[in-house]
Amino acid sequence: MGNIYRKDYVTDYIAIIAKGRGKRPTDFSKPKTVNKTITCPFCRGNEKMTPPTIDQIGTPWKVRCFRNKFPATNPKARFKKLVSLFGESPAAGDHEVVVDTAKHGKDIGQLPVSQIKLILEMIARRVHALSKKYTYVVPIHNSGKEAGASLSHLHAQLFALPYVPSKIANEAKGLRIYKRKKKRCAYCEVARKEAKGPRKIFQTKNFVVFAPWAPKFPYETWIMPKNHLKTIHDVNLEELAGVLKKLFAKYEKIIDNMPYNFIIYSAPKGSDYHFNVKVMPRLSTPAGLEFGSGSWVCQIPPEDTAKALWAAKA
Ligand SMILES: [Zn+2]
Ligand SMILES: [Zn+2]
Repeated sequence: MGNIYRKDYVTDYIAIIAKGRGKRPTDFSKPKTVNKTITCPFCRGNEKMTPPTIDQIGTPWKVRCFRNKFPATNPKARFKKLVSLFGESPAAGDHEVVVDTAKHGKDIGQLPVSQIKLILEMIARRVHALSKKYTYVVPIHNSGKEAGASLSHLHAQLFALPYVPSKIANEAKGLRIYKRKKKRCAYCEVARKEAKGPRKIFQTKNFVVFAPWAPKFPYETWIMPKNHLKTIHDVNLEELAGVLKKLFAKYEKIIDNMPYNFIIYSAPKGSDYHFNVKVMPRLSTPAGLEFGSGSWVCQIPPEDTAKALWAAKA
């Protein structure tokens, strides 16, 4: 069997899935690169090295939020609609950091579920606050230098934007078109089918964790509520924390120090989008084909991802 094309559930993205390269998860392991020699601005006691606290949970803090010291966007700027051929606007927006734990060098799979729940609570609080002023908030985690993390202390970033970013807009559009045609939500159907299929990793009462049909990244996984829930405010955060703990503990069992991006997707205002979380391991290097065409070669078929993660004991 040669390589295969697969179209994403609802967007026009097409993956090229390389079959039978014989790569094992451990082939992707990385050495640990925790840098403890420099003073870490995210460690407890070093709060003066960062902008002032916006919100915190616990005293002393267990989770702490502040504005990014080098923000990508400007909270004082005013957004102008980007309409013309040469559309331009000041980069209005906000950019916050959530330090996930006071402990240096821990990853999500190593934290207790109670701590992961606090992280999710803080993210939900900040999404709520920032959504009053902005159109869409993207909560992301970068872990490992291949994934763009500049500091090894686990943290999230929230990007509050005055527009719905194209990736989410395209996905929401795909869901909308499907619903108009079939009178039902595509992701409700995906969650139901993937919970029973060869790409399932595990499920809880309300969530299913699976490797997506048309992945971009080796070992990519999605977490989806089984019911049609739209935002981070609708889902059970304690249950989601348990799901994240289990998933990341499983990743640790198969790949050492896996660099990843992990993104929480809520529905844009007024959209019927289905909440989901995507984990994008950064184990391959996109090149000309990926940047030039938008189709990515994924070296690991999602069925193999599911098998490896399903079998990992965590
Ligand atoms: Zn630190
Ligand atoms: Zn749905």
